[in-house]
Amino acid sequence: MTYFTGLRCVHCGRTYNTDEAEYFCASCGYHDGILDVLYNYDAMRKELNPAALSANSDWSMWRYLPLLPAADRKLIPHLQVGWTPLYDAPRVASELGVARCWVKDEGRNPTASFKDRANAMGVVKALEKKASRITCASTGNAASSLAGFAAAAGIPATIFVPARAPEAKVAQLLIYGAQVFSVQGTYDEAWELCMEAAAEFGWYNRNCAINPYLIEGKKTVSLELAEQFRTLTPGSFPDWVVVSVGDGCTIGGVWKGLREMHILGFIPRLPRILGVQADGCKPFLTAWKEGGSLIPCGANTLADSIAVGHPRNFSKGMSAVMESGGAFVSVSDEEILQAIPMLARKAGVFGEPAGVAGAAGVRRAVELGIINHSETVAIVMTGNGLKDIQSAIRAAGRTIAVQPNMEEVRNAVRAAATA
Ligand SMILES: *Cc1c(COP(=O)(O)O)cnc(C)c1O
Ligand SMILES: [Zn+2]
Repeated sequence: MTYFTGLRCVHCGRTYNTDEAEYFCASCGYHDGILDVLYNYDAMRKELNPAALSANSDWSMWRYLPLLPAADRKLIPHLQVGWTPLYDAPRVASELGVARCWVKDEGRNPTASFKDRANAMGVVKALEKKASRITCASTGNAASSLAGFAAAAGIPATIFVPARAPEAKVAQLLIYGAQVFSVQGTYDEAWELCMEAAAEFGWYNRNCAINPYLIEGKKTVSLELAEQFRTLTPGSFPDWVVVSVGDGCTIGGVWKGLREMHILGFIPRLPRILGVQADGCKPFLTAWKEGGSLIPCGANTLADSIAVGHPRNFSKGMSAVMESGGAFVSVSDEEILQAIPMLARKAGVFGEPAGVAGAAGVRRAVELGIINHSETVAIVMTGNGLKDIQSAIRAAGRTIAVQPNMEEVRNAVRAAATA
């Protein structure tokens, strides 16, 4: 049973049947014509309600199948995606100056980032279309994730990454067997190249900003948050949900999922959304502050996953903050680097720079008076720290070199104790 009823352009409002539009709105074109997937929520209540879900033993994102645009269970890839742990992190809360803080560890997904939620969905749609090849451009994680899911589904993949993508992410791409173009340019240039290649060769285009189905996978993080908090803190939900922002698909998905779980009666009220960008690349923050439209900018930050000067899902990303009464903030690369060991040491969660940027953003939002000391926050930690070892090592300090000799260890332990 599918409750997927059609698509609607977020720009002009034109609607399409489920099989009418492949990617963007024909009237608006791919820069503006982002489509939103529509469902019949009233009809799905019988199947998707707290009682029914508590009896569901599928501990993955597919436990929310009625809320996803997939009709055929047989096309779902076998990799285990979602139902990631949600940790109560009191030492992080006191460090950041909030009443309570939870961390959802998305680094626990099969290719170690949040992007797996999107690609699991993307591969199902590519299989539905009997695609011969699937393609995307990515700062790194969407690519490594697509490579993994294309491998799982047995579809060839072609991927465009900027030359600066961290080595570990590129290693993932090659190991999963994708054809990889390392574009000697920016992510924005890789994106345009991928769009052209997809059109010219007829490949299935899974770029999250133009393919309306990917964000449906991403929203499952919020469906889980809603269900997990029902157990953890019955009757209440955190005041803020925090996520780092590049193209805006993640934050857009986070907000959509929350609204749906509110409609379906899983959460008592909607939280505000905090979108976190880097000081060196903050087109959302600039547009939000100035009440204006998007002005593409440079992308100067070590947080490669959010180094997106021209966000491709601007309208959904902006709506998440506007509709929720939330905010955008930005943080420096120094603050991002500091947040890596902070989250690791105070919560035991090791994230990549864009993964921990959310935590750095909470501290900034508290300083700015956007978040109160009495409020509670849930941080979506979007990517595993092993994906970018160079940044981690910059933040972590040094080893203590000793000869295999106990005297040297004794001296070092004494020196450390008196330091
Ligand atoms: C992609 C990504 C983001 C940002 O998601 P967008 O949809 O581009 O806004 C944040 N963190 C990590 C680790 C990512 O890979
Ligand atoms: Zn339109």
